Amino acid sequence: MEPAGNVIRGRYAPSPSGCIHIGNALAALMAWLQVRSRNGIFVLRMEDIDTARCRPEFAQQITYDLRWLGLDWDEGPDVGGPFGPYVQSERLKLYETALNRLKAEGRLYPCYCSRHDILAAAAAPHGLASEGPVYPGTCRSLSPEEVQRRSLNKSPSLRFAVPSGEIFFTDGVAGPRRTDAAAGGDFIVRRADGIFSYQLAVVVDDALMGITDVLRGADLLDSTPRQLMLYEALGWKPPHFAHVPLLLDRDGRRLAKRHGGITLAELRDAGVTPQTVNGWLAWAAGLLPEPLQVSPLDLLPSFKLDRISRKDIVVTPEMLGSLHPSFQQ
Ligand code: GLU
Ligand code: ZN
Repeated sequence: MEPAGNVIRGRYAPSPSGCIHIGNALAALMAWLQVRSRNGIFVLRMEDIDTARCRPEFAQQITYDLRWLGLDWDEGPDVGGPFGPYVQSERLKLYETALNRLKAEGRLYPCYCSRHDILAAAAAPHGLASEGPVYPGTCRSLSPEEVQRRSLNKSPSLRFAVPSGEIFFTDGVAGPRRTDAAAGGDFIVRRADGIFSYQLAVVVDDALMGITDVLRGADLLDSTPRQLMLYEALGWKPPHFAHVPLLLDRDGRRLAKRHGGITLAELRDAGVTPQTVNGWLAWAAGLLPEPLQVSPLDLLPSFKLDRISRKDIVVTPEMLGSLHPSFQQ
């Protein structure tokens, strides 16, 4: 499949494992603005590859919530498009093909460790913040005989053997980033239960959908080097990346993870309008001096990536109160 020509193509790629909360909505709005302000094509993709956590009802709810906010997309599960299907669970063959290429080129190896072994082996908890402990490479150099022997008892996960060297990229919001490729350890591309990893699926999808610009939450900033390694290994040109700040509570926890986090559905039920939500998000992100009532379209003229705050956004009770008094706690 040929990636699209010179057109800017961006996407929002939610996992339908819950409802959209205001942190997700911030990333969705910024991704939409980035694409629409450059006359690009906006794609919605449902990342439901982790079938145990994802549910079709959430996918429907997410679609509804995004439209309620005033966002639209040119390609997606409900509207189709030339690069479909736009639902990860319907794209497994594509992941398999990519995986087989990596395998054929000797970039993968089977790992028989349990999560427990890996936790025990990761002496210091200096793993990628969003991805658990660093894998210490235990199974990287098993002999073929050992692999055969272990396969009798256990089906392995498959790991990508990260090359040595540095990964460099310039993030559209966070700026230049340089990391030691090995720092995160060899990562999983297919789990022992056969589920493809987020890292593999997202790279295959973004590449085959011709995505030129990825804008998403800063929780995925440290996944980007891994994705760049996969682009390199598969011989694909990577997109530009931009990671927007997360919304945190006063204790520095992600608002997303807060018990009963503030969802768009809750705001709507409380009578908050989409204009209020959009204005609040743009204000929190640093695009507006105050929380005005706006539609996404109203924000287009003033949108610039470099105006987005680089630091995570601490959401105070007063800020929540300006969305609706009942959210001020
Ligand atoms: N599906 C991922 C999530 O909801 C986002 C993937 C991405 O934007 O790369 O966290
Ligand atoms: Zn292992």
